[in-house]
Parts: sequence; C-alpha cells; structure tokens
Amino acid sequence: MNQPFDLTQINLSMAQENQYEVAVLPIGAIEAHNRHLPYGQDFFHTSEVARRCVRQAWEATQKVLLLPALPYGVDSNLMDFPLVMHVRQSTLDALVRDLALSLVHHGIKKMVLLNGHGGNDFKPLIRQLQFEQPLHLFLINWWQVGSDRYHEIFEKVDDHAGELETSVALHLFPELVQTKNAGNGQARPFRFEALNKGWAYTSRQFSKLNDHCAVGDPSKASAEKGKRYLQVICQRITEFLIELANSPLDEDFPYQNREPRGNR
Ligand SMILES: [Zn+2]
Repeated sequence: MNQPFDLTQINLSMAQENQYEVAVLPIGAIEAHNRHLPYGQDFFHTSEVARRCVRQAWEATQKVLLLPALPYGVDSNLMDFPLVMHVRQSTLDALVRDLALSLVHHGIKKMVLLNGHGGNDFKPLIRQLQFEQPLHLFLINWWQVGSDRYHEIFEKVDDHAGELETSVALHLFPELVQTKNAGNGQARPFRFEALNKGWAYTSRQFSKLNDHCAVGDPSKASAEKGKRYLQVICQRITEFLIELANSPLDEDFPYQNREPRGNR
C-alpha cells in the first residue's frame, strides 16, 4: 500500500489531499566501514531511522513527509580506500539548496536534514538559506541524538565503524555484516596534544590511522544494543517531528512566544 508519508510512493491525488508541514531529508555516505560493515552503512541506517520516525510522526499528525535519502557524502579524507565515493560539500549543498527551494515553492517551510555521516557539514548552508528563504531548517546528526545515553548502552566509544555502528548494523541488516573480518578499530594518535585533546582540528586522513578504515572497537557490538540505541533516538526524533509539525509558524517560531504586550 502506498505510504502517504513517503514522497516516492504518493501519487497526485495524495499530494493534493495532504497538507505537509515538515519535510525530512536523510543524507548518508558511501564509504569503507572497517572490513565488516557495508559501504552503504550510513545510507542504510540513516534511511531506516528517518523512515521509522517519519512513519510514527505521520501517524500522529498526517503532516510529515519523507524525501528519498541522498546516498553520497563528503569523503575526501577516506579516498585511499578502494571505491569510496566522494562528493564535495558544495555539491551536496547545491542539491540540498535546490530541494529546499522546491519545498518553499510548494509551501513547505520546515525542513529537517537527518545527517548520518560525520564528514557532512550543513551548518553554513542552513545559516545562509534561512537568511535568503522563508524556510526553517533543522539539522540532526544521528550519532548525537542519544549521546547522553551512550554509556548506558555501549562499553566503548565509537567514532567510525565501532560498537555503535556495528550494533545498529547487526540489528537492521545483519545479513550484510561480516563480523569475522572486523579489525580492532585502533587508530594511531596525533603527535600533537592539541589535536588529541580536540581543541585544534585537522581533517583526519583515515589511511594513516590504520589499515581498515575504522576508529572504534566493534568487538562488544550486539543487535540488542543497536535496537536499544535506535529506540532512544527514534523516540526523540519522532517527538521533535511531531512538535515541529504541530507548531504554528507565528512570528516567534521557533522560539517560545513572547508575553502579550500588555503583560510586558
Ligand atoms: Zn558511518
């Protein structure tokens, strides 16, 4: 049956009948994830999280629309690994901008970017677009949604293809996980304290960290942990989408309403 929240499945009568308020665009990457996870990891899990959350938010509001996910991401620093696909941030930005303008054209003024890949950075685009267009943009980086609950579920910190991503993969697409091939995810530290502490930044060249394109130990991963993490983040994202869909676009949006003039 056609899902009325899925842009690829609706038809013209459904488009004419429904009043969508919020559009959600998932964005992934196609890249090596240790030796045991699929290249589509970020694309798959981001698409699935978006679908679950939009479905539930749709059931509660009939106002939330899921756009098909963009598979590609910024991967310039992983290109030493075979068949990693890199698109420039400016290319991604151009695509997101065109989609945003299409939404504005059709009267949708709330857009959520659900980002599944650490190399993608949409903050500058959001600042610029909100200056130019009558559109409110929101960015959710999926790995940050449950970071305050991370240590209740996982033992080791994940960064790329470690315990979190492997657990989520074991829950969502276990048939694509080749656990026996996994490397330990140990990454070479920088020689500079400033970089190791994180107050100075440089782009990491993944091929210099280790030989299996991973930062984070996947050995403690399990499908159960992946399921628990997804429950936490899907509940939070769904609630946010429902709130967004139901919130009027008054002059104070997205801030709390000012008190009426008489009470100031
Ligand atoms: Zn990933």
